[in-house]
Amino acid sequence: MAIEVKFWGVRGSIACPSPDHVVYGGNTSCIEMRVGDEVLIFDAGTGIRNLGKDLIRRNVTHAHIFLTHTHWDHINGFPFFVPAYNPNASFRVMAGHLTHQGGVERVFSAQMADPTFPVPLSAMQSKLTFEDFSVGDELHPADGIVIKTAPLRHPNGATAFRVEYDGNAVCYVTDTEHDPETPDPIILDFIEDADLVIYDCTYTDEEFPQKVGWGHSTWQEGIRLCRAANAKQLALFHHDPEHDDAAMTVIEQKARATWSGAFAARDEMVLHIE
Ligand SMILES: [Zn+2]
Ligand SMILES: [Zn+2]
Repeated sequence: MAIEVKFWGVRGSIACPSPDHVVYGGNTSCIEMRVGDEVLIFDAGTGIRNLGKDLIRRNVTHAHIFLTHTHWDHINGFPFFVPAYNPNASFRVMAGHLTHQGGVERVFSAQMADPTFPVPLSAMQSKLTFEDFSVGDELHPADGIVIKTAPLRHPNGATAFRVEYDGNAVCYVTDTEHDPETPDPIILDFIEDADLVIYDCTYTDEEFPQKVGWGHSTWQEGIRLCRAANAKQLALFHHDPEHDDAAMTVIEQKARATWSGAFAARDEMVLHIE
């Protein structure tokens, strides 16, 4: 009984389709995890558009959508998530960073409001439920699935997720900024012994000093955390749009040479965690 992970969008900041972004992909954050009979979706960046088409092909009409946070690169695909317009479908949208800031429904409604989108959120005819939890809460989307949450260091806040099912654990940890002096003790504890850690590797350690305060981390920090926490695999994620295929190839080679458990996530990559 595996957790099947599919990457539908692996970029941070903004979508970057171009002939130089073909190998790793240009869509922003969206990950699907198939766990038993459940479909868990993490973030609704531009990658969720292709996921939506795939759900229609598969006749999937129900899913849980968990948001790390609501910066554009994590929600902007949602208005183009076609299954949400199907009156026979239902989706549960959950976020942990807005409990005291008006809630997630308000943000989803605002992004589709006149005059920045042609139809309002209410045009989505599926049964949409919006739920705000408090970061740190443990979520139980279905029997046998436990999702732990933890706070990340990011402007406006962000939430990390740890999905546990049948003895396997997959952690989704983006967007977050590290302190080069001290590994984040919350993340170290959160990813302990995980089978897969998907981590914010926007920058390299060499670029990081120019990006302090932007809320992101590096692939080198991802490796340091995974090694210290005894995690098995690291997926480099939230790639900087400035890192084209040539740059990403070098980053992935260096990461693999540093630690054999590291690899770079790509659009449409599928992993079976068991
Ligand atoms: Zn982001
Ligand atoms: Zn962000």
